[in-house]
Amino acid sequence: MPGADIFGVEELQAVKDVIERRMVHRYGSHHLRGGHYKTEEFEQAAMALTGSKHALGVTNGTAALIVALKGLGIKAGDEVITSPFSFIATVESIVACNAVPVLGDIDEALGLDPDSVEKLINERTKAIMPVHMFGVAANMDRFVEIGKKYNIPIVEDACEVVGGTYKGRYLGSIGKAGTWSFDPNKMLTVGEGGIILTDDEDLYNKMDYYHDHGHMHRKDVDRGAEGKSGLGVNYRLNELQGALGVVAMKKVPVVLADIRATKKKILDALKDTGLKPRPMHDPEGDTATHLIFIMPTAEAAKKFQAAAKEAGMGCAIIAENTWHFAKHWDALQEMGGKDFLGAKTPSYMPDTMRQADEMLKRAVMFGLDVNMPSETVEKIITAAKAGAKAAL
Ligand SMILES: *Cc1c(COP(=O)(O)O)cnc(C)c1O
Repeated sequence: MPGADIFGVEELQAVKDVIERRMVHRYGSHHLRGGHYKTEEFEQAAMALTGSKHALGVTNGTAALIVALKGLGIKAGDEVITSPFSFIATVESIVACNAVPVLGDIDEALGLDPDSVEKLINERTKAIMPVHMFGVAANMDRFVEIGKKYNIPIVEDACEVVGGTYKGRYLGSIGKAGTWSFDPNKMLTVGEGGIILTDDEDLYNKMDYYHDHGHMHRKDVDRGAEGKSGLGVNYRLNELQGALGVVAMKKVPVVLADIRATKKKILDALKDTGLKPRPMHDPEGDTATHLIFIMPTAEAAKKFQAAAKEAGMGCAIIAENTWHFAKHWDALQEMGGKDFLGAKTPSYMPDTMRQADEMLKRAVMFGLDVNMPSETVEKIITAAKAGAKAAL
């Protein structure tokens, strides 16, 4: 899914324009800009698409998660519950706030399981981070309900699902805050970039200040004369990324229509194979970046994988994915079962993730691309048919 594959003249023109105006930074120099604010336009496009009241551009999706947690006041020793099946950045963002990651189980749709989350909530729990993994929404109805019931903010890690929806609402815009990533491996990229969505003005202000050294941004005074709200960091997005982001947001509908059509074509061709596609809480909102089948057993998944490869197209077994499953994170395991800034970390050993492991060992996956050549589509169909025959 590398987003740069779909770059064309619009991206070239957008970047050229920023360079020609020599305004590559987003803040300050107001009198020299002629009213051009590309990062702001990017944020406005994200707000227009999702209906979120606020959007903040930051350097990447990981920074977006950190800024969201910081904005919510997450501090040393707080617990944040998230999924063992996510890109490692989710857990890293919690650790970056000196907070304790607490990992739940996953449900049939491979999202964080709300029932497992409820069992983990205690007085230290200060945020819950469902992750919309590999194109598909977590069970947001339940997370919204849990957030209300326990008065705990829900932070959606929507880094992988720009444009994806859940019951008609855009992923990232449903919880207290939500994050998008535009890194080089996502379907839409700006090189590196992130957006945080929220409806909460106070939270937005805190995040806005924190991501830029505490600057209380204004356009009517020099940047040096702005007020300082407190200590922050520098996770500013720049105007080159902002300009690419404006183009990326325009491409959301086209890109989604294309990749969804590809996925539908493949699934239609596999209808009679007996393969069970990954269940979803809202199939319509799937961003279709991944084609996943749940096999009856881990052995069947292995047989599927071998036969698919033999037939010309390899696939992954998700449990083996070292960057997206906590079972593989040695550095996290070393943090487990220790005193940690006044709190105690749970064990992060693989035996605590048996439930997720069992599910993910049965999940086989092909990655899909925008503008996927028809030969590749046919190869996936052939491979999946061979896999089904061998495994079911
Ligand atoms: C990509 C990703 C991130 C991090 O985004 P970056 O822009 O690469 O920092 C966080 N969470 C998930 C689920 C992701 O896929």
